[in-house]
Amino acid sequence: MGLERKMNRVPVITIFVRHSEGCPQADEPFSKKCSCWKHLRWTHDVKQHFKATHQKTWAGAERAQREMEDSFERAGRPELSEAMSVGSAVDTSIKSKKTEGVGSAAMKKYQRELEEFLRLCEVRGCVLLVQVKPEDLVDFASG
Ligand SMILES: [Zn+2]
Repeated sequence: MGLERKMNRVPVITIFVRHSEGCPQADEPFSKKCSCWKHLRWTHDVKQHFKATHQKTWAGAERAQREMEDSFERAGRPELSEAMSVGSAVDTSIKSKKTEGVGSAAMKKYQRELEEFLRLCEVRGCVLLVQVKPEDLVDFASG
């Protein structure tokens, strides 16, 4: 069951070789014997995707494959997503406060502070949560 859920989220990513002209392995899309460019292939949302690994070695292609799998894994778990925007983090945070049953006065204050934080982030060009640096928080707290 756990495995099945994981499979839904993370597509099977296949390494294949785009052989250069005249390569003796040209008929073998999964050949590890030549040093032609390796690519990745996977199906996601019923669509087939391709991506160059910029690797000529099989080991290098496997590294790219793992990185790709990791990024799908993270995308399936938004709480771990590096690409979470500050805006959606603020929204999530406000929603969770609401479900905690925080009183409306406290809630308003909380919401105001977060919105202020959001504005500060925008001014500083931090759209993604990963772009927020500790000094941004310090400035916010002292602001
Ligand atoms: Zn080849």
